[in-house]
Formats: sequence, C-alpha cells, structure tokens
Amino acid sequence: MKMFLEKTGVIRLGIIVMLGSLLFLICGCSPRSKVVQRVDTAMGTIVSQTLYQKEGTKKEGESILQEVIACIQNLEQEQLSRRLPGAEVYQINQAAGEKEGIRVSEELKMQLETCMEISEASEGAFDITIGKIVQLWDIDGWAEGAAADEFVIPSDAALEAALTDSGYEKVEIAPGTVKLPANVQMDMGAVGKGIALDRIRALLEQYKVEGAVISVGGSVLTYGAKPEGGSWNVGIVNPADTSQNIGVLKLSGGWCVSTSGDYERYVEKDGIRYHHIIDPSTGKPADSGVRSVTILTRNGLYSDALSTACFILGSERGMALAEQFGAEALFVLEDGSLAMTEGMQEYFCLSNAGK
Ligand code: FAD
Ligand code: MG
Repeated sequence: MKMFLEKTGVIRLGIIVMLGSLLFLICGCSPRSKVVQRVDTAMGTIVSQTLYQKEGTKKEGESILQEVIACIQNLEQEQLSRRLPGAEVYQINQAAGEKEGIRVSEELKMQLETCMEISEASEGAFDITIGKIVQLWDIDGWAEGAAADEFVIPSDAALEAALTDSGYEKVEIAPGTVKLPANVQMDMGAVGKGIALDRIRALLEQYKVEGAVISVGGSVLTYGAKPEGGSWNVGIVNPADTSQNIGVLKLSGGWCVSTSGDYERYVEKDGIRYHHIIDPSTGKPADSGVRSVTILTRNGLYSDALSTACFILGSERGMALAEQFGAEALFVLEDGSLAMTEGMQEYFCLSNAGK
C-alpha cells in the first residue's frame, strides 16, 4: 500500500511537472496579436475598423474586416435602405396605401417595434415616418455637397402636407407583416448605423475576436480588450470646430456610442444653418439649444435612436429620456457648455487643450 502511494506520489509529481512544462510551453509560445485596419464607405457614410486578433487564429483579422463590411452592406441592401429596391424598407414604402402589408423578417419587425417604443417614450420626437419630410428638404442632396444657392427651403404649405403624411402611430405591425397608409414613407437614417453595430458585435463574438473598435458614421462599437491593455478612447467632436475633439470617452469593451450633431449634414443660407435632424412637430430642423448629443449604451439601436431623439428634445427632457432607458448622455449646448448624466462623468475626459 505504501509503495503504491509512493508510486502514485511520483506519478502525480510527474504529471504536475509535465503540466507545468506544458503551461510554460503554452505561455512561452503564446500567439501574439496582430492589429488590422480598414476604411470603407457604406450606408452613405464612412466605416472605419481597427481589430486585434491573435496570430494563428482560425479566422484571420483581414477576412473578419471584410465580413464586417459585407454584413453592413447586406443590412443596407436587404433590410434598411429606402433607396435600394431589394430592401424590406424600400418595399414597405412602395406598398404604402395597399391593402396587404409587406412580409418582413423577424429581425426587421423587432427593430421597428423598438423604434415605436422610443417614439412613444420621446412623445414623437423620434419618428421614422418622416421620410417625406427628409425628401422635401433633400437631405441626401446636401450630402452630395449642395451649394447654398441651389438650396430651396420647403414652403410651410408643403411641410404641413408632409407632416399630415407622417406619424409613427400610422405604422401597422402585424405578425409577419408591416403596412403603411398611402403617402407615409419610412426612413431608417437615424437608426441604421446603430443596428449595424449590433450585427457586427455578433460577428466578432462568433470569431472570438480579441478586441476591436468599429465606427459606422456617428456610431462606434467597442469590443473586447486591447492586448497591451488600456481603454478604448472614443473622441467627441467639437461642433464649433469639427477638426478638434472636446474630449474623449474612455471605455472598456462592450459599449455603443452614437452622436447626433448639427455639423454632420447641413446647408447654410443667409446665415442660417439648416441641418438634418428634424423636429417632427414642425417638420423643420430641430432648434432645441443643442449642437450635439452623444449616447452611451450597451445596444446600438438604442444608442442611435436615443441620440437623435435627445437632440430634438434638448438637454433637460433628453437627459430624462436617456435615463429612462438606462443610457448615459452628453450634450454640447449652443453656448459651448456641456451637460451630462451623472454616469457619463465616469467615462468623459475633457481634452487637455480644453477644446
Ligand atoms: P442621426 O441623428 O442618427 O440621424 C439623422 C437622420 O435620421 C436624418 O438624416 C434623417 O434621415 C433621419 N431623421 C431626422 N430626424 C429624425 C427624427 N426626428 N426621427 C427619426 N429620424 C430622423 N445617405 C446618403 O447620402 N446616401 C446613401 O446612399 C445613404 N444610404 C443609407 C442607407 C441606410 C441603410 C441608412 C440607414 C442610411 C443611409 N444614408 C445615406 C444616410 C446616412 O448614413 C445617415 O443617416 C446620415 O448621415 C445621418 O446620420 P447621423 O448619424 O448623422 O444622424
Ligand atoms: Mg441616430
């Protein structure tokens, strides 16, 4: 018996030594991380990606970057675009006024239900049925660099008519189908990039990516960790000088950050800035004393929708809305001052230069 114990003791020691050296081997040869980067355009905006992946991992970093872009393009072409005939939203708009609703994916149905939830909570400040008003202002035309002298301000009568053809409560979501009344048009411009972040996160999880920061226009996803440690820094643009940041958010992985600002798309005429964030109660660019709103949440659709809604509501009502959804908010006001939720203070660092 003693012998046996002694023997097993030796065997155990042997196993421990072997395990020890195996562990050493694993640590000693631990695969190093590789950083890959890429910039593209999709959804009418710039997509930039930085991704860390361990060398020797089954899926190489470069092909993950490629898949991320394909994933955004699919979302645009098959689901969210009002411009591309293959997209579900395009088809819903085309069928407005018809008796039968359009068959939609479960994913789009759930996204539309979330949009309705935010429309209700924001008392209509956020409203995806403002498609006709967006077209009346020709906001896509501004993106293509419309000159101020070509820009025509829509008449009050035209805006009034377009307003009667909008209203989130007009969207009929039934099991499997979505229907719009005649003349009502959807526009997912305020949420598309946030929805893209949610899809991208699932892809990064699937490929066990080590760390990534991916920005789709004004919406940014932080994921995992940097191999060298430290936070992901997301800059907040200074609306008064868009070449500068007013500060940064220092974040761990797992956050979605969306910013809506009056500097993203606008035309200036006779000293007035006409921007792309529309107040559905007037049909005109929102005038709420705010120049930009940044929202921080764990979910891309909510961060994008809330940044638009909070811009229209202004800092006081917007702050209350963000808190209702457990989100953090940062407002840059017209006089250059900042207002933020208490929780945002934990992440926000003012730029050294105070810009
Ligand atoms: P956000 O505040 O997030 O959204 C503002 C946009 O939302 C406005 O431009 C308007 O479309 C809409 N909106 C305004 N007010 C409201 C409101 N009260 N409630 C709800 N929505 C509102 N742009 C192009 O120029 N060419 C394209 O080909 C193109 N394709 C696109 C395809 C898709 C699928 C999506 C989602 C967007 C596309 N865009 C395109 C639009 C563009 O990407 C962004 O919508 C635009 O840059 C504004 O985004 P933002 O983050 O600055 O503002
Ligand atoms: Mg938005």
